[in-house]
Amino acid sequence: MSKEVGSLSIHSENIFPIIKKWLYSDHDIFIRELISNGCDAITKLKRLEGMGEIDLKGEKNFYVKVLLDKEKKTLTFLDNGLGMTQEEVKKYINQIAFSGAEDFIKKYKDKGEQDQIIGHFGLGFYSAFMVADVVEINTLSYQEGAVPVHWRCEGGTEFEMEEGTKSSRGTEIVLHIGEEGEEFLEEYTLRSVIEKYCSFMPYPIYLEDVHKEPEKDKDGNIIIKEPEALNNIQPLYLKRPNECTDEEYKEFYRETFKDFKEPLFWIHLNMDYPFNLKGILYFPRFSPVDMTEGQIKLYNSQVFVADNIKEVIPEFLLLLKGVIDCPDLPLNVSRSFLQNDGFAKKVSNYITKKVADKLNALYKNERENYEKYWEDIGHFIKYGILKDDKFYERIKDILIFKTTDSKYVTLEEYLERQKDQEEKNVFYTTDQTQQSQYIQMLKDNGIESLVLTHPMDAAFISFLEMKNNHVHFKRVDSDIADLLKDKEVQENKEEDRKIRESLEKLFKKISGKKDLKVQLENLKAKIPAMVVLSEDNRRMQELMERYQASGMENMSIPSEETLVLNKKHSLVQYMIAHVEEESELMNLLPKQIYDLAMLSHKQLSPEEMTEFIQRSNEILEKMVS
Ligand code: ADP
Repeated sequence: MSKEVGSLSIHSENIFPIIKKWLYSDHDIFIRELISNGCDAITKLKRLEGMGEIDLKGEKNFYVKVLLDKEKKTLTFLDNGLGMTQEEVKKYINQIAFSGAEDFIKKYKDKGEQDQIIGHFGLGFYSAFMVADVVEINTLSYQEGAVPVHWRCEGGTEFEMEEGTKSSRGTEIVLHIGEEGEEFLEEYTLRSVIEKYCSFMPYPIYLEDVHKEPEKDKDGNIIIKEPEALNNIQPLYLKRPNECTDEEYKEFYRETFKDFKEPLFWIHLNMDYPFNLKGILYFPRFSPVDMTEGQIKLYNSQVFVADNIKEVIPEFLLLLKGVIDCPDLPLNVSRSFLQNDGFAKKVSNYITKKVADKLNALYKNERENYEKYWEDIGHFIKYGILKDDKFYERIKDILIFKTTDSKYVTLEEYLERQKDQEEKNVFYTTDQTQQSQYIQMLKDNGIESLVLTHPMDAAFISFLEMKNNHVHFKRVDSDIADLLKDKEVQENKEEDRKIRESLEKLFKKISGKKDLKVQLENLKAKIPAMVVLSEDNRRMQELMERYQASGMENMSIPSEETLVLNKKHSLVQYMIAHVEEESELMNLLPKQIYDLAMLSHKQLSPEEMTEFIQRSNEILEKMVS
C-alpha cells in the first residue's frame, strides 16, 4: 500500500479552531466518544460472529484500554474490536466522521450557550481534536488478509494514510495532547472522567500509566496485580427486577452514588414498550430542613449523558437518586427541543406514574413502613404535589399527616371523626412546644391536631384547601374560642357586656394595643386567658412578612388578636371584682395574665421578655415576704 495524502472533505477551512473553542465547556467528552467507539467495535465484531461471518474461537477477553504516556504527552485508546480496512478508514473517518463533524458545526455554531446540546452525540471520533494537536490511527481489520493501516492528521484538513505495523486485530487511536488538553495527562483526572462517562459501558475499561513504577513488596519483588476494570459491565438496572436481591440494590446504590446511608426503598423501572427504558430510582434519607438536589443520571445505552435533566425527569423527582437508561431518547438535540418533545414528556409521565404506583403499593401493603418513611419522604411528596397536578391526583388518597400523638392519619380519617360538624375544620400546629397549651386544650375537648412544621406546609395547606373546598385548616391558636365554650353555664348578657368593656379598656392600656379585642367566655379549660388570631388574618400577615422579606413593598396588615378571658377562672373572677381598683396586685396580675397568654401565641420581643421575667420575680418575692 503506497502512502496516500489527501484532503478531508470539509468545506470550511478552519473548522477545528471553532469546535475547540465552542466545546471548551465540557471538552472531556472526547473520552466518552473514543471509548464508546471502542465498545461499539467490539459489539460489531461479536455480532459478526453471531451471524456466522467469523469464528472467534471462543475468544472472550474483550476490552478497551486507555494508555497514558506523560513523557510523550499521548493518550492512546486501544480496543480489540473489529478494526478497519483502508477502505473503511477512507469511508468512515475521512468522509463520514468528518462530514458528521461538519454537520454538527453547521447546526450548532449559531446557537448560544443556553442552548447547549445535551450529549454532543454525533460528534464522535472528531472530538479527539478538542484536546489533541495530532491524531493517529493504527488499525487492523478482522478480515482475512487485511493490511494494517496507519493514518495521521495534524488537525488541519490534510491527512496522510499508509500501511501500518499493527499486528493484532483492533484499533488504536493515539492523541498527541496539546496545551488545551494537558489536564487529561493527570491520571486522577483521566480516571474520574472515565468513571463519570463510562461506568456502565459493556466491556471492561482499563487505565494504564505506562511509566508508573511497578509496586514492589518489601523484598523488592514486583507485585503482579491483575488489572482492574474501571467500570461495571453489567449494571444492576439491566437485570430483571425479580432477579435482583435487596443487597444488590443497596450495593449498586453505594457504588453509584458513594452514599453510605442506606436508601429507604427503590423502584426498578423496566419498560420495553412503547419505548425502551430501564433504571432504578432510589428514595434516599432526606434531612427535613435541607432540600438539596439528589442525583439522577441519564444514560443512553450504557453511555452516560448528563445529570439531572429536567426535561426528561420531572423536577420534583430530582430530589431522588437514580440511574435511567433510555436508548430511544434523542439526546443529540438541544434542551429546548427536548422541552417541547412529546416523547420526553411521555418518559417523564411514565416515571411519575411509576413513583406514584410504588407509593400507593407501599401504603396499601406496608402501611407501617410507609408511616415510618413519611418523615423522610413526606416533604418530597408535598413538593411533588405542588409542582405536578397529575402527581397529586395519583397520590391524594395516600397523603398522611402526623398527629400530635405521633400517629398518622389521612385527611379523610381525620375528618371522619368530625362527622357531626358542618364545617370541616382541620386543626394543626406549626410549633408543638410553643403552642402546647392550645394543643392540650383541644385534646381535652376531644380534638386532635396535626403537626405541620415544614416551611413548605403553608403552601401545601392552601393547595389542599383549593382542592377540597369544604376543608379548612386552622392553626390551634386561631378560631377555637367557640369550641372551648362551656355551654352549660348560664350567661347574663347585659352584665357580661359591661364587664367585658371595662376589662377591654384595662388590657388595651397595659398592652399598649388600641386594637386589642377582649372576649369574655366560660371556657372548658383550666387557663385564665388565651390569645387567638383568626386563621385568615394570620395568613395575610405571614404573606406580607414574606413580601417584605423579599424586598417588596411595605404593607403591614393590622393584627386582629383577641384576648379571650376565661370567666370561670379564679384569677379572672378576681380581676372582674377589682377592675376599677388601683392596687399593687391589680398592677401586676393583668399584665402577667396577658404575657402568659401571649407567650403561647408567639415569641415575645426581648424587651417584653425582660419585663415578664422581672415581674415574675417580683411576684415570687411577694410570696416570701
Ligand atoms: P459514530 O461512532 O457516531 O458512527 P464516529 O465519528 O465516532 O461516529 O465514528 C465514525 C465511524 O468510524 C464509526 O461509525 C466506525 O465505523 C468507525 N470507527 C470509529 N472508531 C472506531 C474503532 N475504534 N474501531 C472500529 N471502527 C471505528
